[in-house]
Amino acid sequence: MRRPVLAANWKMNHGPPEARAFMAAFLASYTPRNDRTIAIFPPALSLTTVRESLGSRTDIVLGVQNIHSELKGAFTGETSAPMARDAGARLALVGHSERRHVFGEADEATARKCIAALQTGLTPMLCVGEKIEQREKGDTDAVVVRQLRAGFAPIGASDRPKVLIAYEPVWAIGTGRTATPADASAVHAVIRRELEQLCDSKEAAAAIPILYGGSVNRENARELLKAPGVDGLLVGGASLDAASWSAIVST
Ligand code: PGA
Repeated sequence: MRRPVLAANWKMNHGPPEARAFMAAFLASYTPRNDRTIAIFPPALSLTTVRESLGSRTDIVLGVQNIHSELKGAFTGETSAPMARDAGARLALVGHSERRHVFGEADEATARKCIAALQTGLTPMLCVGEKIEQREKGDTDAVVVRQLRAGFAPIGASDRPKVLIAYEPVWAIGTGRTATPADASAVHAVIRRELEQLCDSKEAAAAIPILYGGSVNRENARELLKAPGVDGLLVGGASLDAASWSAIVST
């Protein structure tokens, strides 16, 4: 049994003062449980604040929403994996659909970012998912398989089981349109089979959790988490409010 991973992606919300207020409210309402992993991806500028708010709480891990593929240098405005790690991140989102489709990040760039994360000791959470027109053409499986193969291509066999996967259909992100648990399960099964090909063995692939994301909220979280093959949830909008996030992580 993989331990469920419940992850909050704040996107470009909650600068340091809001992050501090959120953490105070959330930590007051959430009792640590050892049967799940909770992750928060604040904006890079709020990582230190969230880290400090956690104090000695080790039950919540932090992640960065995006990293550059180079570890340092003349890349104005970018965040490197080592900086994110030193600010408290343990995870790095890679290839989120907004990075791919708003900022034009190509599959090869996601692969280089996975390598930068792994070299730095950060765990990449590689996001994959199809657009609505790809789904309507019946291309969902081909798109997620292509994104997985490209993201894993430069990663050595021993590092592959360290990666986490988030399946986020682009049409479900921020739209209020959620995949049904059956839709999610069907694509998670395709991803699981592909991971078995990409890793040395079925057992190695079994270590990799596959999260679902896209309009998850406190009403639908339980049902999605129960869907076969869904090992966790990546939550955007509904993670911004401490009460809503507490309800989701207590699912
Ligand atoms: P959403 O975002 O929950 O607001 O749909 C999910 C995500 O983009 O990770």
